[in-house]
Amino acid sequence: MCPSADPEDKLLRRAVLLMLLAGSLASPCLRLLVVAAAVPVALLLAGLSVLVALQACTVARVFRRRSARCRGRGRGLSTEEVRRLPCYAFRPPLAAAEEEAEQCAVCLERFGAGERCRLLPLCRHSFHAQCVDPWLLTAPVCPICRTRAGAAAAAKRNG
Ligand SMILES: [Zn+2]
Ligand SMILES: [Zn+2]
Repeated sequence: MCPSADPEDKLLRRAVLLMLLAGSLASPCLRLLVVAAAVPVALLLAGLSVLVALQACTVARVFRRRSARCRGRGRGLSTEEVRRLPCYAFRPPLAAAEEEAEQCAVCLERFGAGERCRLLPLCRHSFHAQCVDPWLLTAPVCPICRTRAGAAAAAKRNG
């Protein structure tokens, strides 16, 4: 016996009907709109993801190359490269002044006659082979003047 129940029920039913009507009218339009909007968005997303993937590849490649170069800079020569550097048996010069200059900068000893010496081709600095070889394996530069000691560097200058 509630007087307000009937009109409320009617109102509710009308709202539901309106909603259904609106839904049935709007849904094909909406679906079309959604599809129309979704296609370019999907294409855009696909394109973006491809771009991002390409960018990531490029960055990774550059980074790898750069880190390889950094590693190369820090690393010394290979045993093969060290072996290719000029090596000679020391012969004491006649002039005393020259003898004074002929000293191994690694061990600070004068070169003895017949000792195996290594001549760095770019800067012409000489060392005992036994002294400079371990150094060159850790750093590819002259211990005195830090000029590149590699045979490749010498070839570049001569060529
Ligand atoms: Zn030495
Ligand atoms: Zn040097």
